[in-house]
Amino acid sequence: MLQLIKSRFQKSLFNLPKFSILKRNLNLHEWQSKTLMQKHDVAVESFKVADSAQGVYKAIKGMDYPSYVIKSQIFAGGRGRGRFVENGFQGGVRFAKDAEEGYKFAKKMLGNHLVTKQTDEKGKLVRSVMISQCMNIKRELYFAVLMDRVSQGPMIIVSPKGGTSIEEVAEETPDLIARFPIDVDIGPTMEQKKKIAEFLEFNKSLFPKVSKEVQALYDLFIATDSSLVEINPFAETKEGDIFSLDAKFNFDDNAFFRQKEIFEMADKSDEDPRETEATKMGSSYVGLDGNIGCMVNGAGLAMATLDVLKMYGGEPANFLDLGGGASKTVVIKAFKILASHPNVKTILVNIFGGIVRCDMIANGILDAVKEVGLDVPLVVRLAGTNVEKGIKLMNDSGLPIITASNLGDAARKAVKTVKSFVKKKLM
Ligand code: ADP
Ligand code: MG
Repeated sequence: MLQLIKSRFQKSLFNLPKFSILKRNLNLHEWQSKTLMQKHDVAVESFKVADSAQGVYKAIKGMDYPSYVIKSQIFAGGRGRGRFVENGFQGGVRFAKDAEEGYKFAKKMLGNHLVTKQTDEKGKLVRSVMISQCMNIKRELYFAVLMDRVSQGPMIIVSPKGGTSIEEVAEETPDLIARFPIDVDIGPTMEQKKKIAEFLEFNKSLFPKVSKEVQALYDLFIATDSSLVEINPFAETKEGDIFSLDAKFNFDDNAFFRQKEIFEMADKSDEDPRETEATKMGSSYVGLDGNIGCMVNGAGLAMATLDVLKMYGGEPANFLDLGGGASKTVVIKAFKILASHPNVKTILVNIFGGIVRCDMIANGILDAVKEVGLDVPLVVRLAGTNVEKGIKLMNDSGLPIITASNLGDAARKAVKTVKSFVKKKLM
């Protein structure tokens, strides 16, 4: 559901300019994905990780290969053709012949921002690099397994044209992409694996190896509750071996309870700390560009709130979806998270008391205000069970809470307080 709201924000719902939408997807760095792949018997190159140039130097000294690849670890693809903001250095993936060259490249990459086709113009900070054994690549192919909505099951997608962006291949040469819907109860059949090897133009003698890698990648996909395993390039070497040389994984958030090990690997350094906090308490947080902080329960109500705010000329700064339960502790934390956003000039609470009664929510809000304090106006609209009781509690509290009778009223009041807040600040 959260994904749906985000995509609605990103699309033309409000015809807003560019949003900084925060993703809650679990991201793994390439080296972490490859560690998982090793565990699941997928063939990957030898590698190490380092977060300093000195570390890269040492790592290479401890390896013995003809050459190495130094790979920036960021959550974006297209690194090979990327460029560093601070020093103009070309390439987030570079070939190094020895430790000295590896050191030199790492110096240019670490601590700097890499801009690729998949990042914004600010780029992503490179905090670590992976040192890979350089393979003798003969051909670069594309391999992916994903959960497909249409066939309602896993789907293997392959192309003999790998290494580049698959979106481009799909647009320019769609015939070079083949899709294989997989029966989740049996996995890829021998017949399917043979067809995959044929479509990828492998020599017959390599079919058993291809089949083994395809099976291993599929098993990994299932075992880790992935929603996407994308290997680009899936490479054939001159020696006749097959390696997965770049990997991107997405995981099903709902699998959190049984994939703790994987979720614990997540690097949150790029994530908004508010999002991290919200996730911890079982809520969802989305950061936006406006100045009204929104606390809601339920994704549908979130969308409605933001639609109506826009209608009255307001801009949401963020929204926090409390989900089903809104206990006192949750509301207190939610207030802290919303108010910690530097742009928030007013907070709008729009909660429907269905599972949780409005008087309980009102008490939660009052306690939260008493505990956290309020340095911005607070507009509250409640609806549902015990709504009169809830509103009365807030009106009688003596606290400067602005109550609203309906959503339109709430949005209007929130927008009005923002305007006066700005004025006050200016005076
Ligand atoms: P990105 O997709 O982010 O640009 P990749 O990991 O796909 O990053 O690396 C870019 C290119 O670098 C690959 O398409 C491949 O040609 C080359 N490459 C990556 N890893 C290796 C490796 N271990 N050995 C040889 N070439 C590699
Ligand atoms: Mg790649």
